[in-house]
Amino acid sequence: MLNSHDYPSHECGVFAVYGHPNAALLSYYGLFALQHRGQESSGIVTHSGKKTPFQSVKRMGLVSQIFKEEDFEQLRGSYAIGHVRYSTTGSSNLFNAQPFSADTSRGQLAIAHNGNLINAARLRTELEMKGSIFQATSDSEIILHLLAQPHTTKTKEYPLAALRELEGAFSIVIMGENEIIGVRDPHGFRPLSLGKLDDAWVLASETCAFDLIGAEFVRDVEPGEALIINESGIQSEFPFKMSREAFCIFEYVYFARPDSNLRNINVSQARVRMGQELARLHPVEADIVLPIPDSGIYAALGFSEELNIPYEPAFVRNHYIGRTFIQPTQLVRDFSVRVKLNLISSYVRGKRVVVIDDSIVRGTTAKNRVINLREAGAKEVHLRISCPPHRHACYYGIDFPDPQKLLANQYSQEELCAYLGADSVGYLDIEGMVRAIRRPQNSFCLACFTGDYPMPFDASFDKLIMERRGEQAHFLPDIKIQPPLFPQS
Ligand code: AMP
Repeated sequence: MLNSHDYPSHECGVFAVYGHPNAALLSYYGLFALQHRGQESSGIVTHSGKKTPFQSVKRMGLVSQIFKEEDFEQLRGSYAIGHVRYSTTGSSNLFNAQPFSADTSRGQLAIAHNGNLINAARLRTELEMKGSIFQATSDSEIILHLLAQPHTTKTKEYPLAALRELEGAFSIVIMGENEIIGVRDPHGFRPLSLGKLDDAWVLASETCAFDLIGAEFVRDVEPGEALIINESGIQSEFPFKMSREAFCIFEYVYFARPDSNLRNINVSQARVRMGQELARLHPVEADIVLPIPDSGIYAALGFSEELNIPYEPAFVRNHYIGRTFIQPTQLVRDFSVRVKLNLISSYVRGKRVVVIDDSIVRGTTAKNRVINLREAGAKEVHLRISCPPHRHACYYGIDFPDPQKLLANQYSQEELCAYLGADSVGYLDIEGMVRAIRRPQNSFCLACFTGDYPMPFDASFDKLIMERRGEQAHFLPDIKIQPPLFPQS
């Protein structure tokens, strides 16, 4: 049975290759590097030129485990797109695995999407009224149907006219019979970069994918830009009405890989600076600084450096069990937090310890770590968090639970400290976080911290899908758009 989190939750990774004889293998390695962006399912679709059929392999599971050597005999061609999909549930659903592909009146098409469409309910209903039949419960399939609509395929402006129908967060790669297209929504919520490998072009959600395949970073796809790559070269179009940039700040805090550069800022270095800012905002007298691996490592380095307190990596992570959020129930989630990290108690016995993590969501990780440290004989336990308190849902592609379940909404600062069992708790503030990244504050989406949503979200897509399955919509209420915190540019 589908459960509530089968619905639009798209912390995904996309990848594309144009013009390389080993397009599928490059995509495999690209997706391997993007695995942190999604572990539920993965897929590659390839094409070898004009009228030959698209080849597709999609399976549930990790990139390194699901693709077999023989798949690459099937996945021929010099064009490829690939996708890794994030899961917030244990339930398996191959229907939602991407890329989505179809044979349309305009020819074969395949798409892979990272982000959340906010007008998905309206689009899907309109398409269904015109006869479209959907297989998945994911909003991304709508993009394929829009591109396939005969009235949009006939216009000279194809496919840009179809893309203009989309609203929300989208970084998409599209493969047609003669081209690869990379598109970012006008707010630029999610990343997408362009690289070059020999004569081939590559597109990836994060630059760490270029490093692995030896591609050179060329530039980011701009917010609102569509890059069309075909025989004539690369063409840049800006088909959308421009809006202020609203890049997801949480990509820097947690989601992106530390070796990636987002908007030309290295993620690990931004995290080190967040740790330094945090140390200046909430200094503490302590004997050791201890990161929660892997998410707190770089901020802990910055914190330790700033206050000159030794950095001791006393938590040892078992890398072979996915991310905490993969487990669907609270019972299993707690277990996986415990199974993930083991503490070397000799580092902490009798010490005043500062523990650094990037964020607190439900508080499960932080609470368990404090218990571990107390049991191991730590004299004092101070928690420092390298982003502000999470109080609001994300509608643009990061999975945060219902705001009522966010710890910062359940307690005052003092109560929260008592609940976590810590001696003190300190969060970084918005200004420090933004300073650490070195990009203007009004170029970010900060909605999960501030509640200032750059655009309204229509939660009715979730309702639509769930009501059809006779389930109660779990999802968050429609939000009221507050006046923007920052002037729109
Ligand atoms: P929690 O235990 O619920 O407080 O979650 C906090 C931990 O989960 C931190 O260690 C974060 O690094 C990590 N985290 C934060 N946001 C997410 C997310 N959207 N998906 C998965 N993990 C997350």
